[in-house]
Amino acid sequence: MTVPSVVVFDLGKVLIDFDYGIAAQKIANACGLDPAEVKKMLDHSPLLYRFETGLMSNEEFYKQVSANTGYKGCHEEFCGYFADIFWEIKPMIAWQAKLRASGIPTFIFSNTNGIAVPHIRARFPFFANFDGYVLSYEHGSMKPDPKIYEVVEKMTGHKGADIFYLDDRAENIETGVTRGWQTHLQHDPQATFKVAQRLGLPIN
Ligand SMILES: [Mg+2]
Repeated sequence: MTVPSVVVFDLGKVLIDFDYGIAAQKIANACGLDPAEVKKMLDHSPLLYRFETGLMSNEEFYKQVSANTGYKGCHEEFCGYFADIFWEIKPMIAWQAKLRASGIPTFIFSNTNGIAVPHIRARFPFFANFDGYVLSYEHGSMKPDPKIYEVVEKMTGHKGADIFYLDDRAENIETGVTRGWQTHLQHDPQATFKVAQRLGLPIN
C-alpha cells in the first residue's frame, strides 16, 4: 500500500456544502417565477456546464439567466444571490488544516465558476490555505473529463497512487480510479477519516 503524498479535495459537498435552492428562491422572488424552475436552470444544467467550463463570462451568464427568467436585477445583485449558497463542512476543514500542519500538500479540484470562487475566497479563510487550485472554468474542461485530471497531475507533480482524491460524485471518482489515483466517494466526514487513517494519513 502506498501512503499518498498529496490530498486532492473536491470543493462542493466535500469542504463546503451548498444549496442552489437558496439562489433560486431569491432570483425567483425577484421575477415572479417558480423557484423549482429557476433551480433547474442553475443546478447541473447545460447553462451551468458552459459557465463552469469557461465558455461564458460572468456577465454572459448573468445576461443569459436574466433573459431566461425575466430577472431584472443588476449584475452585482445577481452575483450576490448566485454565490451566497455555501456553508463550511467544519470537520473537513479542520482535517485539511491538520494535513497542512503535517506537511502534506493539499489541493482543490473543483467544477466551479468565476462568481462562486471570489465569493468563497472572501467569505471562507480556509480557502487560502491550499498548495494549488484546479478550477474548471480556468481550464476549459470539467470533471469527469480526463483532460482536467492531467492538470491536477501536472500541478501536484504526482500521479497514480501518490494522489488521494475525495469527491462526492461517483462519475468524478471513476476517472480518478482509471488513472490509478487512490479515491474515496465522500458522503460523511467520519467515513472519510477512517479511509484516510487506513491509508496512513494523519487524522484529527
Ligand atoms: Mg462536489
